[in-house]
Amino acid sequence: MNIEKNKVVTFHYAVFDVDGNQIETSRNGDALVILFGAGNIIPGLERALEGKVAGDKIDVTVEPSDAYGERDEAMIQRVPKKRFGNAKLVPGQSLMVQTQQGPRMLTVLKVGMSVVDVDLNHPMAGKTLRFEAEVTGVRDANEEEIAHGHAHGADGHGHEH
Ligand code: ZN
Repeated sequence: MNIEKNKVVTFHYAVFDVDGNQIETSRNGDALVILFGAGNIIPGLERALEGKVAGDKIDVTVEPSDAYGERDEAMIQRVPKKRFGNAKLVPGQSLMVQTQQGPRMLTVLKVGMSVVDVDLNHPMAGKTLRFEAEVTGVRDANEEEIAHGHAHGADGHGHEH
């Protein structure tokens, strides 16, 4: 079965930066399960997986515009320290915050007496990334998955959110 829109695809992956340093991998845990064609993964990876079958391996380099987007300097913001409550803030630290657009990851840049400079760009924004992936399963999505816009696990049972 080939990977195309409305298939559920299971795959292991590893992501590397341009210097070959591994940033992230699924190999030490469960494979990723996605609904193909629903924007669950970055466009560059989706394109590389299209038409593949279980057992296929891909190795693709993806530009920022097809990955997590370019960095946006407007996403560097100065916010009141009290917004973080009693959290101990350290430059370089990543943390999840609630915003009007939902949960969002930010990176702490600088901690002042009363304000904190934070970067709301995705940690991988602006980076060219190399993905190695191995397709381990392809199946038809069910109607519920297509309606929800995501996969419900490798075997189609259960509902993980
Ligand atoms: Zn669902």
